[in-house]
Amino acid sequence: MLKIGHEVVRPGKKYGDTPVTFAIPEELETVPGIPMNQREVDWYSREYPIENMNITERASRDWANNLRDGHVEMREIRKEHEKLNKPLILAARLSADLEPTAKATGEDLTQQIKDKARELGFVEVGIAAFDHRYVYQSKRGATTYYPHIICLAYEQDFEPTQTIPSVDAEIVHSSTYRTEGAAALELGNFIRSKGYHAQVAGSGDSFGPYIPMFVAAGVGQLGACGYLLTPHVGSRCRIVSVTTDANVTHDKPIDYGIHAFCQVCQVCVNRCPGRALMRDKIWWRGIEKNKLYFKRCRPVMARYLGCGVCMKVCPIQKYGLKNVMDHYAATGQVLGKGTHDLEGYALEGKGYFGPGELPVFEAGFFDMPHGDTGEWAFDRLKAKAKASGNQVTPQLMDEFRKEMTRALNQSVETNMAVAGKQEEDNPDYI
Ligand code: SF4
Ligand code: SF4
Repeated sequence: MLKIGHEVVRPGKKYGDTPVTFAIPEELETVPGIPMNQREVDWYSREYPIENMNITERASRDWANNLRDGHVEMREIRKEHEKLNKPLILAARLSADLEPTAKATGEDLTQQIKDKARELGFVEVGIAAFDHRYVYQSKRGATTYYPHIICLAYEQDFEPTQTIPSVDAEIVHSSTYRTEGAAALELGNFIRSKGYHAQVAGSGDSFGPYIPMFVAAGVGQLGACGYLLTPHVGSRCRIVSVTTDANVTHDKPIDYGIHAFCQVCQVCVNRCPGRALMRDKIWWRGIEKNKLYFKRCRPVMARYLGCGVCMKVCPIQKYGLKNVMDHYAATGQVLGKGTHDLEGYALEGKGYFGPGELPVFEAGFFDMPHGDTGEWAFDRLKAKAKASGNQVTPQLMDEFRKEMTRALNQSVETNMAVAGKQEEDNPDYI
């Protein structure tokens, strides 16, 4: 039995459940939250502000959406989701400007807000300071963000998630976004009824990669897969937030042992069909993490129902952190590692891949457009001119003019909720 370093007590999985104690082995202790260099986070935020990949990688996004739309069933599901989700997104956008519906008493509302969030079905709730360093450049100054952020995670159903990548998993993925979006709007109404402002942010229309604020609020830690791993359901949740000026107390980051455990586990790293996950951690924009190779992930997501294998094969998603930590403390082993139950998955048209087996892709599989659509048009002009003996012909210029005009007229849609691995939840995409 490994020596236990510390214990973490969290509310039970469902509202009203008995609190759960997580015993973290001493050898997995690192720091609460994530190792971070605040000066570097400040510097990158100021000198290289983060931007929405719907803008910076628009060319590959359009390419991926076209490929996905070739799957008739998924195209219909996506259209249906966008129709149903649009009113929720519009209501969230308007929520920042809604006035409170009662007079504030000045009391600390932390517990009432947390109770309400749990009643509404959120599996995790924590509160932190709103961190403007993680707001996309294009969203800075566009709206009000109140000084506190309520970080909310909604569980995604277990059974369909275990069939990832599949149509069923994509259906539950998008329906979870809609359910949590509606619940977050309800939480906003509750806060306004207590005399304060409340702005719903996220759930398919995010202001930025907000996992760092969730980590600061003690709701979980960043996994090697790039998702937030929450204690009860790991990455099997969708996140949304409410910013507010209510009188609340901030939570603190927690060391759940996940930062070190991922280096031992590595199941998602080994099982990723695109070989897109890094084995070792690096320092990136002031944070120590396993960086994801976006260029190896998107081509897989685009062709295999949003992929998400890294979610499916995570033992914390499947068995919960308590079982995983207890098993590790007792045996020194990763629960489920090496089993078909945890590691197996099937890719449509490719077949089943058990532990130790990975698909092989044809040459050119990972080729995709890069940059925004204007940059991509210019790159193609250069390549075609080179192929024509370094001649920029009138025909090439005409094609380029048309593509640039189309690029300049594109709107920046931010609803990515049927995107498989959710770009906006995921700081690894930045
Ligand atoms: S979603 Fe991307 S990172 Fe995750 S398993 Fe698939 S290809 Fe790998
Ligand atoms: S599969 Fe293992 S390494 Fe990957 S995120 Fe889950 S716990 Fe971490």
